[in-house]
Amino acid sequence: MNILVVGAGVGGATAAALLAKAGHRVTLLEAHVYPGGCAGTFFHQGYRFDAGATLAGGFHPGGPHDVVGHTLGIRWKTHPAEPAWRVHLPDRTITRFGHEANWHAELERTFAAAPDRDAILRFFFRSERISDAVWNFAARRPTWPPSSVADLFRTAATLRPDTLLTLPLLTQTMGAWARSSGVRDRAALTFLDAQLLISAQTTADNASALFGAAAADLPRKGVNHIEGGIGTISRQLIDALVAHGGEVHYRQEVTRFETRNGRIIAAHTNKGARFECDAVVANFTPWDLARLLGKDAPPALTRQTQRMRDQWGAFTLYLGVQDDDENGAEDSSVEHHQVVADYTQPLGETNSIFLSFSMRGDAARAPAGHRALTISTHTRTAEWWALRDKPGAKQEYDDRVAHYAETMLTHAERAVPGLRSHIRLQLEGTPVTFRFYTRRHRGGVGGFPFTSIFTARGPATGLHNAWLVGDSIFPGQSTAGVTMGALRVVDEIGRRHFKM
Ligand SMILES: Cc1cc2nc3c(=O)[nH]c(=O)nc-3n(C[C@H](O)[C@H](O)[C@H](O)COP(=O)(O)OP(=O)(O)OC[C@H]3O[C@@H](n4cnc5c(N)ncnc54)[C@H](O)[C@@H]3O)c2cc1C
Repeated sequence: MNILVVGAGVGGATAAALLAKAGHRVTLLEAHVYPGGCAGTFFHQGYRFDAGATLAGGFHPGGPHDVVGHTLGIRWKTHPAEPAWRVHLPDRTITRFGHEANWHAELERTFAAAPDRDAILRFFFRSERISDAVWNFAARRPTWPPSSVADLFRTAATLRPDTLLTLPLLTQTMGAWARSSGVRDRAALTFLDAQLLISAQTTADNASALFGAAAADLPRKGVNHIEGGIGTISRQLIDALVAHGGEVHYRQEVTRFETRNGRIIAAHTNKGARFECDAVVANFTPWDLARLLGKDAPPALTRQTQRMRDQWGAFTLYLGVQDDDENGAEDSSVEHHQVVADYTQPLGETNSIFLSFSMRGDAARAPAGHRALTISTHTRTAEWWALRDKPGAKQEYDDRVAHYAETMLTHAERAVPGLRSHIRLQLEGTPVTFRFYTRRHRGGVGGFPFTSIFTARGPATGLHNAWLVGDSIFPGQSTAGVTMGALRVVDEIGRRHFKM
């Protein structure tokens, strides 16, 4: 089958390489000049900065990247990050060790004085058991959410006795579960919110308990630095695609799909090219797919895009920093930090930031004696676009950028004292920047908040021969998440192939 994959984010690149390995003729079109999208790494004045994602999970045995690596013969360039990161709350720090005994000791130390100490520990330990059950379930590749009765049966076949553990939590949120377990401590609840915001795109009161338990437990499952930056994942996938006979074309932005009888038959690009196909895998948000289909968008897809709330955006700082231990520029044992500045304010919009240094000694990332640092915060996209589109508001837009950058640097200095004096290069990214470089609708990133497994979006598009991959479909954001989604789509195309 002649398959067009549009977009070389991790979801698109994974699907493309696996489909080529399965024997299909695969053409991958990417608008940008390199792959990776939100998990890409870009070069600027001697530094290689991770554009968005900085840490990757899912390489543990049976994890999604591990499965893909085995299938494609890729030896991933991973280095375990241990500890995974350090969380700086307004009045204490918590180090997220991956090693279970160290992590449990850290939890006990952190909450030793809390009146609800026992409830806190019981809750976190129990959520690890739930996480294990969810990760085991995911490793058996359930077809969730189902788009047919056959999918339901396939999902049912992946249930095991340990899945029963998860049943009481099917419709619960993480917040309700924590409170009904007796957790009251402000630091514990803020810590939980902060973990979920970065792993499930929403805080505890809106996060599905099952998904939240698995997402917040990523450090214990193992997270990794990627040699050369996170973009190495997509580059290795593209190498595998080409090795299996596939093609990749950069600087080819699909501007329109051509349809006939409810099927996509070709894609047109900004370079005036037309690529014919039997099937399409689109590494986009649903809004972008609807836009490229225009009047041929299935009514259900159009209705869905009108109902959906915008995804979060990101404000990012890319800093080239001198790596100078003597001046205390950083605590060299921890390369990733999360800072929450104020207990009384909502998270995001600079009140919670995430910092990631390139690995010390990774010569591909920075000149000798320097490191590349990415700092990000969640931000709503609307205000950025309103300012961008308001006539005469360029100064207002720039002031907002400067304000976000300054506030984030102030908070970052809590984790890395003296950081400002070590900065040699500074770039900023807003949702407008993300829109430009990833083509994502309004520069929204990270997929949809994971509020319930019953409202999760699957890969179906309403077109018989087109599927979505990427963080807009279940199980959502992260390189591991979009890899699971891609595995599902590849399985589905494999089954469909026999019927086409
Ligand atoms: C600030 C930030 C921090 C993050 N931190 C982490 C982290 O530490 N760990 C983690 O695992 N995840 C993290 N994530 C999430 C993770 O990066 C994403 O969920 C994941 O990379 C999304 O992959 P995707 O497959 O959806 O593709 P995308 O990243 O959305 O890439 C889509 C690709 O398609 C291309 N494209 C789009 N439209 C077209 C078109 N019309 N024609 C041709 N090409 C097109 C784009 O150029 C792009 O290359 C972070 C994200 C952000 C923004």
